[in-house]
Amino acid sequence: MTSGVATMFDPQELLGPVIQAAEKQSRREDGDYVGDDGLLYCGRCRTAKQTKIQLADWEGNSGERIVPCICECQQAKFAEAERRRVEAEEMERMRSLRRHSLMDARLEAARFDAFTQRADNEKVLKTTRFYAEHFDLMLERNQGLLFWGAPGTGKTFAAACIANHLIDRGVSVLMTSFVKILGTIGYGSDAEQLIERISRVKLLVIDDLGAERSTDTALEKVYNIIDSRYRAKLPIILTTNNQMADMKLEDNIQYSRIYDRIFEMCYPVEFKGRSWRKAAARNQFYELEKLMEETE
Ligand SMILES: [Zn+2]
Repeated sequence: MTSGVATMFDPQELLGPVIQAAEKQSRREDGDYVGDDGLLYCGRCRTAKQTKIQLADWEGNSGERIVPCICECQQAKFAEAERRRVEAEEMERMRSLRRHSLMDARLEAARFDAFTQRADNEKVLKTTRFYAEHFDLMLERNQGLLFWGAPGTGKTFAAACIANHLIDRGVSVLMTSFVKILGTIGYGSDAEQLIERISRVKLLVIDDLGAERSTDTALEKVYNIIDSRYRAKLPIILTTNNQMADMKLEDNIQYSRIYDRIFEMCYPVEFKGRSWRKAAARNQFYELEKLMEETE
């Protein structure tokens, strides 16, 4: 070798590994053919699997080299595989969010589509839908909701519709009750984890406020949980069978402290009407619930 050749930039040597990797990706397959331009074409999509590139050395001598490239159907295949990977990742995230939501299995199907509008729940439906669809704004304003009214008027279902709407969109939600929380608290690391998550999830839904034990210790914990949301500036949705007038005139000091905090954070929504559960025998949601209970 002359000294001139030794100092020359050797593109082939530098590009070698890149070209080899590309060659692996686009091997010659049955049906592939060589076109008039001397390049290899894909038999399926009839676009080039090779391209010509100019490689110049330091002295300006350029040479042509044929290198592999990816044909259109292969490109589409890679894009599709990537789309599926992203989708699977997203699905796994949703599954994880749902797993961690603590929601009762019977409420997992609750969606606004299954929300039967009647004359007496028009405002309820409007409010809950608005809340779910403008959750970013609600979160920003730490705006919660208090669903109150007689048992069986659809409060839990409405709260679950909001919860599911948000979980479906990747928002962290926890839906539980003080009965369940108080049953878990005080039992080691599970309780710590639960309390930690209660103060961190974007939306906390507490079903059936007022059904919990009303001992001093229990109510102290209830207050602390609600207050932790208040201090974290995160919203809470509560459902209760209590009447508004009773909550406003509560003479138990601990409960009145709890209600004051709730009224500060939550917009009250009254649920009226006939017992919804009885009236909704034909409703898809309760049909499903009944089916699940029967097959348990
Ligand atoms: Zn192709």
